[in-house]
Amino acid sequence: MPNRELVVLGTASQAPTRTRNHNGYFLRWDQEGLLFDPGEGTQRQMLFAGVTASQVTRVCVTHFHGDHCLGLPGVLQRMSLDRVAHPVRAYYPGVDGEVFWRLRHASLFHDRLTLVEHPVDGDGVVADRSDGADGPDGAGSDGFRLEARALSHLVPAIGYRLVEPDGRRMLPDELDARGIAGPDVGRLRRAGRLETSGGPVTLEEVSVPRRGQRFAFIMDTRLCDAAFELADGADMLVCESTFADADAALARDYGHLTAGQAGQIAAAAGARLLVLTHFSQRYETGAPERLRDEAAASFGGDIVMAADLERIPVPKRAP
Ligand SMILES: [Zn+2]
Repeated sequence: MPNRELVVLGTASQAPTRTRNHNGYFLRWDQEGLLFDPGEGTQRQMLFAGVTASQVTRVCVTHFHGDHCLGLPGVLQRMSLDRVAHPVRAYYPGVDGEVFWRLRHASLFHDRLTLVEHPVDGDGVVADRSDGADGPDGAGSDGFRLEARALSHLVPAIGYRLVEPDGRRMLPDELDARGIAGPDVGRLRRAGRLETSGGPVTLEEVSVPRRGQRFAFIMDTRLCDAAFELADGADMLVCESTFADADAALARDYGHLTAGQAGQIAAAAGARLLVLTHFSQRYETGAPERLRDEAAASFGGDIVMAADLERIPVPKRAP
């Protein structure tokens, strides 16, 4: 099982269909699990997908249209029912804090969950685990920063991206040759230098630069600068493509992207894998492949049309 993968829980915009649940995405990233935009039915989709409530460490909501948040009451109460022991952090547009409160307290239950709220009130870093050392994934991971930016929709909406800092990849042969093993590897990593019986060893001698991985999540928005900034250099870009290019006027009026625009963002940002999702039910009976073709008109990288319950690995690190 890859350490980093996207589990697709739902892919429908506005109204679910026979084959598409409302939105929902679970990003497994080492020991962390980020649940994005839990729409209605997310709790049951998690069951089908093999994702448990206790695997969720953070919940990220882009905005409070129902297809992006009506699953929150069920998921949060399930966490409480399952006695999730760790604190769960929640991120959402701060201006709509009252809507979050209503969802959090939508029904009566014995609330055992420790939910730490992080209302997002501006662009920037909303969570910083970039030291990597304090987290459960300290070994071999450089942690991440979670960033948010305001998008352009009909209501306040934000997009997210996860950025792993650039780090270094240890070279086992070079470590062996110098007799460095066990906790000494971590010491050398942190200090950049280690005294050994054979003399001092620097981190540069036993490692090579490793580019950090990036994941971007862009839901309901018109084409805007923030979308390009979020997608910048993404290894995996999950992007709404509610409309086909022929319906560009509708997309603009309702604050959405077309598949072609999603392709433009991915191309300009230098993304590696584009995951298209959040499809309008109007294309359910047509050929959804047309949306892929429209995105591919400007983006030459890999494109996946997301399907419910699909698991999509974050691409291997760029060489
Ligand atoms: Zn919306």
